[in-house]
Amino acid sequence: MPRYIFITGGVVSSLGKGLASAALGALLQARGYRVRLRKLDPYLNVDPGTMSPYQHGECYVTDDGAEADLDLGHYERFTGVPANQGDNITTGRVYSRIIERERRGDYLGATVQVIPHVTDMIKDFVLSDAGDVDFVLCEIGGTVGDIEGLPFFEAIRQLGQELGPENAVFIHVTLMPFIKVAGEMKTKPTQHSVKELRSIGIQPDILLCRCEIPIRMDDKRKIAQFCNVRESAVIEGLDAPSLYDVPLTYHAQGLDNEVLHCFGIEDAPAPDLSRWQQISKTIAEPDGEVTIGVVGKYVGLLDAYKSLIEALAHGGIANGVKVKLKWLDSEQFENDGPINPLEDVHGVLVPGGFGERGAEGKIAAAKFARERKVPYFGICYGMQMAVIEAARNMAGVADAGSSEFGECGEAVVGLLTEWTRGNALETRSADGDMGGTMRLGAYPATLVEGSRVRDIYGTSEIEERHRHRYEVNVAYRDRLEEAGLKFSGLSPDGVLPEIVEIEDHPWFIGVQFHPELKSRPFKPHPLFASFIAAALEHGRMV
Ligand code: GLN
Repeated sequence: MPRYIFITGGVVSSLGKGLASAALGALLQARGYRVRLRKLDPYLNVDPGTMSPYQHGECYVTDDGAEADLDLGHYERFTGVPANQGDNITTGRVYSRIIERERRGDYLGATVQVIPHVTDMIKDFVLSDAGDVDFVLCEIGGTVGDIEGLPFFEAIRQLGQELGPENAVFIHVTLMPFIKVAGEMKTKPTQHSVKELRSIGIQPDILLCRCEIPIRMDDKRKIAQFCNVRESAVIEGLDAPSLYDVPLTYHAQGLDNEVLHCFGIEDAPAPDLSRWQQISKTIAEPDGEVTIGVVGKYVGLLDAYKSLIEALAHGGIANGVKVKLKWLDSEQFENDGPINPLEDVHGVLVPGGFGERGAEGKIAAAKFARERKVPYFGICYGMQMAVIEAARNMAGVADAGSSEFGECGEAVVGLLTEWTRGNALETRSADGDMGGTMRLGAYPATLVEGSRVRDIYGTSEIEERHRHRYEVNVAYRDRLEEAGLKFSGLSPDGVLPEIVEIEDHPWFIGVQFHPELKSRPFKPHPLFASFIAAALEHGRMV
């Protein structure tokens, strides 16, 4: 039976609760424990798949095809443990399951209520399929006091009571604002937040106080006294220079020690933090830098590209350099003017995206990179736009387009209505539901002998994660290959183009999947490592 750590947040959102959970998971792993991380999101959507990236940031995709909260990306990057469908639940998912049961008559005439039916379902989710682990870290989205969060807080309160203090620990993440004009740090928001938490029956064991400057001993003492925790349980969560410093800084503040103490574990092995020290050093002392132009349409909210940003940084780690990102709104390339903003970048990356807006700008960016021999990396939508560009300008298919944008003369990219997953046939129609109906999760691909990608991966069989509705139409393969765009990776049955590349170019690769989702700081994804190496090379030449 695993032990449970519940992580809640207070005062404001965006305090880095997800990161703190991931870092704590990594610290427990560094002591030899096995961990699993879970996220409970109180919003009403069944999953974030249908939400705009501006609302919710990136939608993370797991191997088993869950469209999940971006915190699951942090969890995977920090612990290397693959998340699955059961690791992220929402109010929407809980209610849809309850209503389904109620309609079936499963409640045998009972009045179906928030307590106990909703809370019981949440508890089931938390406890089920955790696997053979020592600790389950369970983060509650939102902040204490949110109306929609109440059933979740009640469920974890009950779990705390049922599991007992030796098996359940509560960590509350709060903010310690520094008021510049007064030159003072304020403890009151933390006190209020804990008061709120205690009013719904949860006494936190540990407070992780996020702050911009170190917390004075006096303030720690004050918080401990008023919030009813040990002084050593008031952990200072200072902003760190890099994400990957966080496990080290939290360890230095005693977070993992305190957690183990709360569980009564006094004989835990000392953590081996060498990999984190190594990574922190590589990031702090880069040997050069490279600039990548990212041409997207959600550039106003960088959380929309969370995994991509991390994977590019991992590519930098693999090459010992810093990767600077130049964010470019694809719409600025829509008119025919010169593409000046791309003149000074060492590589162009067009990430995933949806809808027609900005498409022509991305096509223009792919054209620029192809013609000017700048390394180009197209991911999902970025691959589809590169194929449309190649069809129009290399293969002479003048009205090449994507059926995502409505009727088009030559749908080089079209809606996929049928495909196989293992032995099962999956079907979709143009007017079907939007939620959960894309090609989602891990699919295998076979890499063509002699291709650049085969060389980069060093293997012929790969498995990568997908999230898209449209596909490059394999019927155009011969025409495009003759013109110079090779199909170098395909689904094992040869029906779905997975990777395209241009041989006569320093580095031009488009992939239908999202390699950024599987990149880890300790295991940079080979495509990102190779892309950054090519960009470095390009920088040396110009
Ligand atoms: N909009 C495209 C599709 O659905 C690409 C999706 C993506 O980039 N993730 O196929």
